[in-house]
Amino acid sequence: MAELIPHPFGALVTRMFTELETEKSIFDYPQKKFFIGQSGRDYSVKFHGKNSSSPLGPASGPQTQMAQNLVLSWLGGSRIMELKTVQILDELEIPRPCIDMQTVGYNVEWSQELRVEQSLHEYVKGAMLIEILRASGKLDLAENFGDVLYDMSVGYDLKGIQSDKVRRFIEGMLDASEVVEHYRKQIPEQYRQFRNLDFQTKLSDTLTLSTFHGCPPEEIEKIIDYLFREHGLNCIIKLNPTLLGKDQVRHLLNGIMGYADVHVPDEAFENDATWEQAQGFVERLGLTAKTLGLGFGVKFNNTLIVENHRNFFPDTEKVMYLSGTPLHVLGINLVKQFREIFGDQFPISFSAGIDKTNFADTVALGLTPITVCSDLLKVGGYSRSSAYYKELNSRMDNLGVSDIESYILKAYGNAEQALENIGLGVGNVSGPDVPLADACRKTLANGGELRKVAGSEAPVANETFEKWLSETKLLNTKTYVDEVTTNARYGIEQNSKPPRKVGTMLELFDCLTCDKCIPVCPNDANFALKIPPGETEILEFETNNSGWAVTGRKTLKLEKKYQIANFADFCNECGNCDIFCPEDGGPFVLKPRFFGSLESFQSFTNHDGFYIEDEGTERCAPKVFARFDGKEYRVSETGNTVNYSGPDFDIQFSKNDLENTISGEAKSSVSFLNYEIMQMMRSAISATGSGSYVSAT
Ligand code: SF4
Ligand code: SF4
Repeated sequence: MAELIPHPFGALVTRMFTELETEKSIFDYPQKKFFIGQSGRDYSVKFHGKNSSSPLGPASGPQTQMAQNLVLSWLGGSRIMELKTVQILDELEIPRPCIDMQTVGYNVEWSQELRVEQSLHEYVKGAMLIEILRASGKLDLAENFGDVLYDMSVGYDLKGIQSDKVRRFIEGMLDASEVVEHYRKQIPEQYRQFRNLDFQTKLSDTLTLSTFHGCPPEEIEKIIDYLFREHGLNCIIKLNPTLLGKDQVRHLLNGIMGYADVHVPDEAFENDATWEQAQGFVERLGLTAKTLGLGFGVKFNNTLIVENHRNFFPDTEKVMYLSGTPLHVLGINLVKQFREIFGDQFPISFSAGIDKTNFADTVALGLTPITVCSDLLKVGGYSRSSAYYKELNSRMDNLGVSDIESYILKAYGNAEQALENIGLGVGNVSGPDVPLADACRKTLANGGELRKVAGSEAPVANETFEKWLSETKLLNTKTYVDEVTTNARYGIEQNSKPPRKVGTMLELFDCLTCDKCIPVCPNDANFALKIPPGETEILEFETNNSGWAVTGRKTLKLEKKYQIANFADFCNECGNCDIFCPEDGGPFVLKPRFFGSLESFQSFTNHDGFYIEDEGTERCAPKVFARFDGKEYRVSETGNTVNYSGPDFDIQFSKNDLENTISGEAKSSVSFLNYEIMQMMRSAISATGSGSYVSAT
């Protein structure tokens, strides 16, 4: 179902705790893979002057679209949430599938698929769920790992951003009190202790601007100026990789990395801001921000616009947006180019091909936040980010450091050169800086938190320390850009193999049960359905002058220990689970689909699936509604009597004695296959209880 439907807040709270208790997971993310910090380690960074427990975050994209996605990102160790871009046009028709992760990563999706107001509500709900989880004490959250920031993103032109709709969104993020109160009341009675939490009401006062590919530079400048003056926001501008220029982009992408068939159209360069233009508006906006006392920085990069040369997206899409691995090389080259002009004057947010190997490198460059999208869409999903910390921890262990600044200073061995560059080199230092320079060197050699050491040695220490840190970031950038540009892991050779397919077609039941489709879904739409293996007899009846008679007996055999299903309200048919499923056909298309309400079941008549009433009564089991091959069926029970109706029949029977009690009307023979499937679905959902989206109320 291409339309996303937000889930009731109370149901999400219940589901979160029930699932943690019974399944040791939250929203299908296994507890053993959570990354909730590490004792004795401080990954904290500053973002627009505020503390975040880590520079890592999900990029504005599929991982920040819905409330549960924010919780999943948080469980993976993300602490700066770049919320999905909202814009005035909030009833978009996006082609499906919209994400192609077969190789490096292409997409044709862009802003929020929810309405603008729904987006605000989802962001508030996500932040409240995280706060509740934190306060619950159910997770062994490390000290220094509790601070989380939300960064809004709006697009795409000044007129839209000035519209009432987007204005209300920004104001709602600046003061979410009303929305918070609305959801506070929805916290279920069972969890009433969380109703008194001091939920964050100023959800965000920072914004990353997303502009259209081809947005005129004057427009970009006007938008940021407006956001500064009208809303008092700290801003980041997301810049395009085309800034590198036609020759450099093609040299890196088509030449060095070898993506010969990926063509960036000339117009992409002609329409986007040039380097000179970007340099101009960064300088001017930097001054304005300073005058207004606001934060300002840039983000590298937006995706890269390329011609649609593959046959994945429809032909109507003439262009698509490249993300993932090759973008990393372009992004790092942009960081270098930018820092050659501006030094460490402006903070840089970074999002381009981040993965477990290079996250630690981008931390060493002092980039904040470092956001990810493509890698978290691969097998393992959100839990992949725990491997980022594993690599960072290993490097920090080797260097004997426990905080990010000390890590930056020691990561590539550039700290001594940086001291030299800022005039604290051996032999050229004098006066009050002598003990500071000596202390820095001593701590470099012996370990410890370098800022603390520097700060304890001289009155100018903090300023000097900042200079030392900045200089090291610049040197680290040079070190890394040289290494990364020619590193074969970013080239086509190592990024052209699609995920393995085994050549079999998925069916409603049973598959390889590899579970890949569950974590690769950014919305947690796919899930395991507890239908035990077994055989069920399927009867077929016909009615004639003497009544009903059995005309066929077959067997439905389920072999796997559980089944895979899809929750339609969370599935936007992005197609990502189909990419990683070893079988063909797409789990979101062929596996049992559950709707979250009768309304959504009845609205999407071109989708087969099930709706199971929330709860029955003592005498009535929950009704089951189903659509098979576009035809509707219904099962209801009162006491021992079952009513089963379909497109051309309406029959009743006693639950304990179908063969001898069946009655009613039918225009042709009636198979009980669909009835048995509907019963299985009801039993499986009832067994999961409030640990399932389908049944949580
Ligand atoms: S279930 Fe599959 S198609 Fe649907 S949103 Fe998730 S990954 Fe995309
Ligand atoms: S539907 Fe595909 S990805 Fe999901 S468990 Fe079955 S075989 Fe694996």
